[in-house]
Amino acid sequence: MRPTGNLHLGNYFGALRNFIELQNNHNCFFFIADYHSLTTHPNPSDLHSSVKKILSQYLACGLDPDKATIYIQSQLPETAELYMFLNMNAYLGELERVTSFKDKVRQNPNNVNAGLLTYPTLMAADILIHKATHVPVGKDQEQHLEMTRTFAARFNRIYDTSYFPEPVAYSFSGELLKVPGLDGNGKMGKSEGENNAIFLVDEPNVLKKKIMRAKTDMGPQEKNSAKSPEIENLFSLMKLVSKPEIIEEFDRQYADCTIRYGDLKKQLAEDMETFVAPLRERIKSVESDAAYLSKVAKTGCEKARESAKKTIKEVREIIGFKTF
Ligand code: AMP
Repeated sequence: MRPTGNLHLGNYFGALRNFIELQNNHNCFFFIADYHSLTTHPNPSDLHSSVKKILSQYLACGLDPDKATIYIQSQLPETAELYMFLNMNAYLGELERVTSFKDKVRQNPNNVNAGLLTYPTLMAADILIHKATHVPVGKDQEQHLEMTRTFAARFNRIYDTSYFPEPVAYSFSGELLKVPGLDGNGKMGKSEGENNAIFLVDEPNVLKKKIMRAKTDMGPQEKNSAKSPEIENLFSLMKLVSKPEIIEEFDRQYADCTIRYGDLKKQLAEDMETFVAPLRERIKSVESDAAYLSKVAKTGCEKARESAKKTIKEVREIIGFKTF
């Protein structure tokens, strides 16, 4: 997760929930992607506080440093070395075709830097440095993971080895999730405007206001009609936090044209608050424990480096870098 803001509901359901599930019976590595965040040139003093914030939010959501290795990307220089090796076999054409790159170029035409172009090779390095086989991500990361497989297979082919596994995306529910935004857009995201995302730290009044302002339509015009994307989004959010019988009731009201969107939003806001409140409280408590955070970061870094150093040593040998 990049430390460029607070965690939102999309991060939680798309990625974190799967992490928490996996850590119970797998050897898991989770990290804060602060190298990645440099593509947007953060202010040095903000960078550290953002990393601390995301670490607190990871822990408050249930990542357990006794079960999993939790570390900060920039404390693993081996990742940067593997990124460089992978870049040697990554081609301009394939990098330019990546959807997220094309989106960023459209959004920020004055900041099309090499880090942005090679974002998928850095992501591949993050995954391959631990020879990961499963990666818990949301639907938006499917293409990046496909590229990781391409880079892994290409390395194996070039060096006539089966060293790197070809990792697959993992979702606990079986399908990759895309949590929609509140503004009628397809995806909840931290850079999609302030009324798009529900953050885990949103105070009750902020959360309620955002949901009450969510985009809707004129209402169903005839019985059993299909829902517009805006209304589909609200129902999708409800599916994450509301009881099935509540959703069924609103579905029925939609189908017979008696639905009142104000009631739907009020219910969603209530259920969302019930879901977010305990996370918000835990975040506040973890955030204030500086000694605990620094212990977690230090132990995580030591464990992650053990694994990364082994990979880099083996990769160097495969490539042909031998000591004299
Ligand atoms: P990002 O916030 O873009 O750094 O993404 C961090 C993780 O959260 C990635 O695994 C994404 O796939 C996941 N994620 C971000 N936004 C969403 C969303 N709206 N729905 C599902 N997963 C998401």
